[in-house]
Amino acid sequence: MIKNNLQIYNTLSRKKEVFEPINPGHVGMYVCGPTVYGDAHLGHARPAITFDLLFRYLRHLGYKVRFVRNITDVGHLEHDADEGEDKIAKKARLEQLEPMEVAQYYTNRFNQAMASLGVLPPSIEPHATGHIIEQEQLVKQIMDNGYAYESNGSVYFDVEKYNKDHHYGILSGRNLDDVHDASRELDGVGEKRRQADFALWKKAQPEHIMRWPSPWSEGFPGWHCECTAMGRKYLGAKFDIHGGGMDLVFPHHECEIAQAVAAQGEPMVKYWMHNNMITIAGKKMGKSYNNFITLDQFFTGDHPLLEQPYTPMTIRFFILQAHYRSTVDFSNEALQASKKGLDRLMDAIAALDRIEATATGVLGEEFAAELEAKCYAALDDDLNSPIVISHLFDATRTVNQLADRQQTITPEGLEALRRVFRTFAFDILGLQPEESGNAEREKSFGQAIDLLLELRAKAKAAKDWATSDQIRDRLAALGFEVKDTKEGATWKLNK
Ligand SMILES: [Zn+2]
Repeated sequence: MIKNNLQIYNTLSRKKEVFEPINPGHVGMYVCGPTVYGDAHLGHARPAITFDLLFRYLRHLGYKVRFVRNITDVGHLEHDADEGEDKIAKKARLEQLEPMEVAQYYTNRFNQAMASLGVLPPSIEPHATGHIIEQEQLVKQIMDNGYAYESNGSVYFDVEKYNKDHHYGILSGRNLDDVHDASRELDGVGEKRRQADFALWKKAQPEHIMRWPSPWSEGFPGWHCECTAMGRKYLGAKFDIHGGGMDLVFPHHECEIAQAVAAQGEPMVKYWMHNNMITIAGKKMGKSYNNFITLDQFFTGDHPLLEQPYTPMTIRFFILQAHYRSTVDFSNEALQASKKGLDRLMDAIAALDRIEATATGVLGEEFAAELEAKCYAALDDDLNSPIVISHLFDATRTVNQLADRQQTITPEGLEALRRVFRTFAFDILGLQPEESGNAEREKSFGQAIDLLLELRAKAKAAKDWATSDQIRDRLAALGFEVKDTKEGATWKLNK
C-alpha cells in the first residue's frame, strides 16, 4: 500500500484534489512536449522541470509511472491557428533540409538540454509523424459520431454541434460566444463552417512537403489530434494526469478534451495540471514573442540580457524556487540569488559527509524525522517545492552549527539527516552537485595537502622527525601516498 497524501490542483475543477490513481499503484501521465523547430529556451525548462518533479515524486512514493511526453514534428501551424504554415516545414524550407532532419536535430538538442537540467527521460517519447494512422483513426471515430465534417479535403471539428451535447469550454472556462469573438479577427472562415471549428485533418497545398494519404486527401493531421491519439494509445482511454503549460489550456487542451469525448463518449483525463509561465520584464517568454533566451545561451552567458553564464542546476533551482502555478520573472539578480541558495544547500550536503557524530549527541533521529515530515507535507500540498527548499535551508543552519562543533548529533541522527537531505535534494528535487563547483573544491582541498607537506618539510629541516612522520602516516591512513623526491615531496590520492 502506497503512503499517499498528495493533493494536486486540477485545472478542470479549479481546486486542489486528493490524488487517487485510476489503477491502484500505477500512474499514467502525459505531458505535451516540444515542437522541434528551434532550440529549447527557458520557457521549455519550466514544464519539463515541473513535471519531472511530479514524475520523481510519484516514483518516490512507490508508484509505477508511465510518463509519455510527445515530440511535435508536424501539424503545429504558425500562429497556433488553422491558417499558416507548418512550423517544421517552414524551417526546413528556410534551411533547405529534410523536415525529419530538422526535427531530429532539434529533438537531440532538446534532449541534451533536458539531461543537463537533470530532467529524467520520459518512459515513452512518441513522435506525431510516427502516429499518423492513429490520428486518422481518431478523426474517423469523431466523424462517425457526427462531430466532424469534411470540407474540400480537410476535416473540421464541429464545435457548435459538440457544445449542444457536451461542454466546449469546460477546461478553459470560455464559452462559445467568447471563442467566436476571439476568432473573428483571423483570416476568412474559408472551408470551416464556423470560426470556432478547428482542423482535424488538413489537405496539403501543392508546396507542402509533409503529407500522408488519407480517406479525405493527401495531407496532415491537425495539431490537437496527436496528443489525444497518442495519449489513448499508450495510456488507455482513461488515464490519470495530463500536463502542460498554462498557455496550452486554450485552445490545445480544450480541443483535446472535445476530441476525446467526441470519439469515445467520455473524457480521457482525470487530472489536468498546468504550470505557469516564465516572464521577462512581465511578458511571456517564447519563440513566437521573440524575447526568449535559449538554454544554451544561459549555459554560455552569450546573450545581451545575461550578465554571466548560469549553470543548468542554477536554472533548475531557480525554477523550483517558485511554485509551479506562480509566474516567475526572469532577472539576473534572481538567478544570482538562486546560485547562492543552491551553493548553500550543496555545501551543507557536502558538510554532512565530513561531520562526525558523537554517541552523546544532543540531536537524534527526531531532528531528521521532523524535517522529513515537513518536506513531505510541502510536496503533498500540490508540489510546493519552494517550501521544501525553505525547510532544507532552515536545516542548513543546524548543519553549519554541527560543522562548527557548536552542536552535536548522534550517529543514528547524522545518518538520518544525510538520508533526508539527499532524498529531497537529489532524488526528488533532482538537484546534482555541479562539476565546476567540485573542481573548485578539489583545488582547495589539494592546496590544503600542499600546505601540510610544506609544514612537514619545515619539520624535517628542523630535524623534528616525530612531526614529519606523523604528517606522512596520518595522510597515508587517509589514502594519500606521499613520496619524497629531490625536488621535494609529492602526493597522490589512492582512492
Ligand atoms: Zn499536446
